[in-house]
Amino acid sequence: MPSKSLLERGFKSKAEKIAEEYRAELGISKFDALDAFALAEHLNVSVFTVDDAFDDKSSPHYISMSDTTKFSAMWMPNEDGDKIIIHNANHSKYRQQSNVMHELAHIIRGHKVPEAHAKLCAQYNLHYFNTLHEQEAKHLGGCLQITTPGLLWALKRFTEDQISEYYCASIEMVKYRIGVSGANRIRTYQNK
Ligand SMILES: [Zn+2]
Repeated sequence: MPSKSLLERGFKSKAEKIAEEYRAELGISKFDALDAFALAEHLNVSVFTVDDAFDDKSSPHYISMSDTTKFSAMWMPNEDGDKIIIHNANHSKYRQQSNVMHELAHIIRGHKVPEAHAKLCAQYNLHYFNTLHEQEAKHLGGCLQITTPGLLWALKRFTEDQISEYYCASIEMVKYRIGVSGANRIRTYQNK
């Protein structure tokens, strides 16, 4: 069952605008692929792998965070208050892109983790969960990876597999973006 949308009115067009603005700042067009690691650098967000983050590879936290069924990525403030991302590099290159984009979306939106939660999360490796924040990050993360104009442009030229390669996005992400962007309706209309 699809979950109810908590996104505020106008959020989706704002997300498209953000995705286009960052591309412009990086000197690429809305039709181009945006590399999540390049965007992180542009935003001064340091990205670490789980391997980087743990010296003790026998730690149970290291073992579970290296497991792709258990951990994708998280953002948190480091001890200097700078935002950092830790991601599981055992995921495919496509999934790594969407995982890092998702966390960047949280940071771009200025989502905050209440301090008491942040301490608990760091200590016990928990993920703070806020439904609205998750919906925003999911939507914005998808737009950052594939803008709607980019998707429509690509659908005229490429198969879904080729779109996945072009944007370094998983097939699931391509299908998700086709669904939420309304590209399917536009595509059907254009083919009439
Ligand atoms: Zn999230």
